[in-house]
Amino acid sequence: MGELFQEQLQALRARSLERKLREISSAQGPEAQIGGRLLINFSSNDYLGLAGDSRLREAAIGAIREFGVGAGASRLVSGTQSPHLRLEAALAKWKETEAALSFSSGYAAALGTVPTLVGKDDVILLDKLCHASLIDGAKLSGAILRVFPHNHLGKLENHLEWARREHAGKRILILTESVFSMDGDRAPLHELIELKKRFGALLMLDEAHAVGVIGPNGRGLAAAQNLSDDVDVQMGTLSKALGASGGYICGSRSLIEWLVNRARSFIYSTAPPPGIVSAALAAVNFLGSSEGEERRRLLWERIRLMQDLLPRNELNEKAGVASSTIFPWIVGDEQAAIDLASALQSEGFLVPAIRYPTVAKGSARLRITVTASHGENQIRSLCEAIKRANERRAED
Ligand SMILES: *Cc1c(COP(=O)(O)O)cnc(C)c1O
Repeated sequence: MGELFQEQLQALRARSLERKLREISSAQGPEAQIGGRLLINFSSNDYLGLAGDSRLREAAIGAIREFGVGAGASRLVSGTQSPHLRLEAALAKWKETEAALSFSSGYAAALGTVPTLVGKDDVILLDKLCHASLIDGAKLSGAILRVFPHNHLGKLENHLEWARREHAGKRILILTESVFSMDGDRAPLHELIELKKRFGALLMLDEAHAVGVIGPNGRGLAAAQNLSDDVDVQMGTLSKALGASGGYICGSRSLIEWLVNRARSFIYSTAPPPGIVSAALAAVNFLGSSEGEERRRLLWERIRLMQDLLPRNELNEKAGVASSTIFPWIVGDEQAAIDLASALQSEGFLVPAIRYPTVAKGSARLRITVTASHGENQIRSLCEAIKRANERRAED
């Protein structure tokens, strides 16, 4: 057993694709303590700085005092405690949908939900850059799977025509994200919805990186564009801008009742711990408050500063406006991305190098994330460090 994976690991190492864990010995925040050093953290999805917020901590502690630590059973058995129902009511109210269901993670939400929407003989059309959770959910459903090039409406339309012709009478499900996790760009929602209506398809939209950041009360991109009612299944996570942990689906009451009856990751897993659920509820309440509004405004100031200061080269041309908290800085070669990340680390910045299989081979990159907790000077100094590293590379 000891030797079983040695060769495979060695092969990963040889291609600069081996991954390792690193220990962070501090709370989440704009700085991270690693190996006795404090690094400025540009790797976190805690966009509003809520993961360490005292309101969330107090909500979790209060719920632990009242309800204990573990939920004890799955939701349908005896794990549905008051915090779960309170959270789901708040999620539905916040997203302005009939109902909501929470899961242990965003990953579990996708994995459990997609197979309840479609099955064998149905068709899934999935954007090439969709997150692994959507891909895995799609595979698990057993539906026929077609991938369309990223945000390519023409190809999607071709697939829809094909699906309607070759699989007449079957369900067609379009899976995409509102803000893409490794590229930070947005889906063309208006056009997607026009297509899905024309072909009578369903749309499931993963708003993992848009909630908390975009739209009224941070409700996401669909809400920002007044399109929520046209999204059949709204998915999101409680683990990123909301600072807690868990995932959710919002939609019609019948959808949610169907999920309660069929979503295996919901049914066959112990309910999320009440402390975490209560922290997520505090985060939802924060998003709707004036302080939440102010925090989002501050976040967008930081995003625009990063957009202005991030140096550009031929692989990284400047977009007109920043579209999210996520700034990819494309390097290409896997080892070069690792080298750049470690050069930045030695200058005091934690910026992850993202490689295959998270992104395509040869499109390795830094994935810089901006949060409301970053100081202007932290953003300035990161951009200067990238500029220096970029100039050194150009000279080599
Ligand atoms: C992070 C992420 C998920 C999974 O959410 P978790 O709560 O972390 O499990 C799903 N979809 C996208 C696009 C993500 O970035």
